[in-house]
Amino acid sequence: RAFVRMDGVGHRYDPAPDSQMAVRNIDLEIHRHEFVAVVGPSGCGKSTLLRMVSGLLLPSEGQVSVFGKPVSGPRDDVGIVFQKPTLLPWLNVRKNVLFPLKHKFGRYGRADEQRANELLAMAGLDAFAEKMPDELSGGMQQRVGIVRALLLNPDILLMDEPFSALDAMTREQIGFDLLKIWDEQPKTVLFITHSISEAVLLSDRVLVMSKRPGSVLDLIDIDLPRP
Ligand code: ADP
Ligand code: ADP
Repeated sequence: RAFVRMDGVGHRYDPAPDSQMAVRNIDLEIHRHEFVAVVGPSGCGKSTLLRMVSGLLLPSEGQVSVFGKPVSGPRDDVGIVFQKPTLLPWLNVRKNVLFPLKHKFGRYGRADEQRANELLAMAGLDAFAEKMPDELSGGMQQRVGIVRALLLNPDILLMDEPFSALDAMTREQIGFDLLKIWDEQPKTVLFITHSISEAVLLSDRVLVMSKRPGSVLDLIDIDLPRP
């Protein structure tokens, strides 16, 4: 059974009936714990597609469902990582990644701190847990953003060009570190990228979108041995 499903999904930001659509005719099935990279020309609707999975945006046509239930508003089982990680500058790295737990439940416990330490270690950040965000490079801050999203243990992780501001070497290293995390904690992931090599390295399937208004052109199985 599909985990995320889209049936005839389309969206127009301008509600006028003759306005141009941002995406149209999207039929899609993503399985549980599948890592899907989303590629396509700029402006074809990749971010629009992700917003509709998160429930932050509702489609103007068709239906999105998660686990068989229609998405009717923002979901709290979705983690989101953006291009810039927006860490809180007055909290150290460990407190930054624990912040959403504190915000959501009012507090966090020893087990959460231990889990934070484990994930930070897997992301290559063990030596930086006590550092402040401005002491970290852009690539490290981005890893912190990913650990922060994972600590809430979301069913779905959405990433919108998380590495586009980083240089090629840093991207590649983060990619390998992420693979270790996915092996240990599989997630249903939708990952927008401009890098075909990154898509092929990280994903189980690559979703190719056509130019605006974007639709699904192809969903390609990637069957490469993991490094
Ligand atoms: P991509 O992520 O592939 O670059 P987007 O989903 O951001 O594409 O955008 C798809 C189309 O919808 C673009 O033409 C964009 O200008 C338009 N669009 C995106 N967000 C908005 C918005 N908030 N209001 C109006 N138009 C938007
Ligand atoms: P894991 O920790 O292995 O990712 P979960 O504990 O999240 O698994 O889920 C266990 C089972 O609960 C899943 O195999 C699925 O059948 C069901 N489940 C998980 N998430 C949802 C959901 N959002 N809605 C309905 N059922 C779910």
